[in-house]
Amino acid sequence: MPHEIVTIPCLSDNYAFLIHDPTTGATALVDAPEPGPILAELKRRNWTLTHILLTHHHWDHIDGLPDILATHPAKVIGAKADAHRLPSLDLAVTEGETFDFAGEPVSVLDVSGHTVGHIAFHFPDTAAVFTGDSLMAMGCGRLFEGTPAQMFDSLTKLAALPDETTVCSGHEYTTSNCAFAASLGNNDANVAKRISDTAEMRAKGMATVPSSLGLEKQTNPFLRSADPALQKALGIQGAAPVDVFTEVRKQKDSF
Ligand code: ZN
Ligand code: FE
Repeated sequence: MPHEIVTIPCLSDNYAFLIHDPTTGATALVDAPEPGPILAELKRRNWTLTHILLTHHHWDHIDGLPDILATHPAKVIGAKADAHRLPSLDLAVTEGETFDFAGEPVSVLDVSGHTVGHIAFHFPDTAAVFTGDSLMAMGCGRLFEGTPAQMFDSLTKLAALPDETTVCSGHEYTTSNCAFAASLGNNDANVAKRISDTAEMRAKGMATVPSSLGLEKQTNPFLRSADPALQKALGIQGAAPVDVFTEVRKQKDSF
């Protein structure tokens, strides 16, 4: 059974998410940038957290945790590899493991690159993946700890999920990601439409997150390493996809 997803804007450009099961009342939070907006949303809906899922150790994804736990003593789930630098975990998970959320088998993917030990959570029945700062709308996270090859592998794993998967990522960076995509000069009709749709949504104050995996695969330059049009625009036709990704990431770093 699919579960309900609620997107909560936090800080200046972060997103946290709630996943809710109306039958059992189970409610999961993904990432805890700050307590205020999350506690307010829970109160407004009269929901109580049962699970808190952490994607990675950066402060803007965990700092809200103590204040949230004070009133919602939920089970905290995060990467075993990062247990030493995450808040205290009740369940430490590794890639390939699944855990239960209200009857839905949530699977854990290692999506290292932005950090090493970064994980994503795939809810197959809800058809959603929570990617934190790995795959983002029209972008991917900066490589603070991992290598380009690691992030390429991570994105390849995410891209293998069904196209209809909802991609719930950690930041509203889509406007600058679109400006970067435009700079690559391979704007086919799908990319051009995504850029104009994004501008329109942001002008109305709408969130561009979540997006869908199908749309990302079509328009996100970090998922298009095998696309001859992108390779041509970069002047590296026929290059191995991992090398194309590396070049795109390098260009974004100095954009
Ligand atoms: Zn981060
Ligand atoms: Fe972040």
